[in-house]
Amino acid sequence: MIDVHCHIHEAIFDADRRDVVNRARECGVKHIITSAIKPEEVDKALRVVNEFKGYISLTIGHDPVLVSDALFSRQVEYVRKYSNIIVGIGEVGLDYYIIRDHRERSKQKGFFIEWISIAEELNLPLIVHSRSAGRYAIEEILKCKYFDVVMHAYDGSIGWAMEAAKHGVYFSIPPSVTFSVQKQKLVKKLSLESLLLETDSPVLSPFKGQRNEPANIIYSAKKIAEIKNVSLDKVIEITTDNALNVFKRLRLRI
Ligand SMILES: [Zn+2]
Repeated sequence: MIDVHCHIHEAIFDADRRDVVNRARECGVKHIITSAIKPEEVDKALRVVNEFKGYISLTIGHDPVLVSDALFSRQVEYVRKYSNIIVGIGEVGLDYYIIRDHRERSKQKGFFIEWISIAEELNLPLIVHSRSAGRYAIEEILKCKYFDVVMHAYDGSIGWAMEAAKHGVYFSIPPSVTFSVQKQKLVKKLSLESLLLETDSPVLSPFKGQRNEPANIIYSAKKIAEIKNVSLDKVIEITTDNALNVFKRLRLRI
């Protein structure tokens, strides 16, 4: 299994990161992608990636709730500076749950469109956050016609998801699928060929209120197997193939 999206460099893992990584290895996690989305996270994330070389990879993005030109520009600089090291860009996107003001939303959308063109220019996949904005994020992706995209923890409508999947967009499924009816529906409707596994650690635990960790990815895989009525091995095989298909640089690392 490949955990295509989490934040394992965050301070909440400082005290026991090695144990967390060992539990992931024991559980069959072959690789972890951590996402640095604020300027102050980048150096720390790079240190963690170096400490677990070959097991943890990095994406750099921009937290969509930080609607600031200065922060956006700094993250773009980081992405360009480390464009040979990162395996993708993200997470970036839209968050209409936190951002309610329409001017801020349109600014957020402007950043998102720029991120799509940077991803295209650098030929890197884009991990998209779209909280309460699934439809709007997918509309922009369709308009830009850039489909090396992972919709992470997608909470939008199934119809828009299916439209995006038609173009090869992937959907990564977090362990909260064990109790989220919307995510269960998403898994049911999309084909296994469109799915990836993620944990979004430290959030989206299968156990509400607990810190999430990459080993919990098995809950996503098991739930997908149950919903699709296929073996766990099949889910692991296909989602791993999918991950290597979209995160092309991982092929050289694992
Ligand atoms: Zn995240």
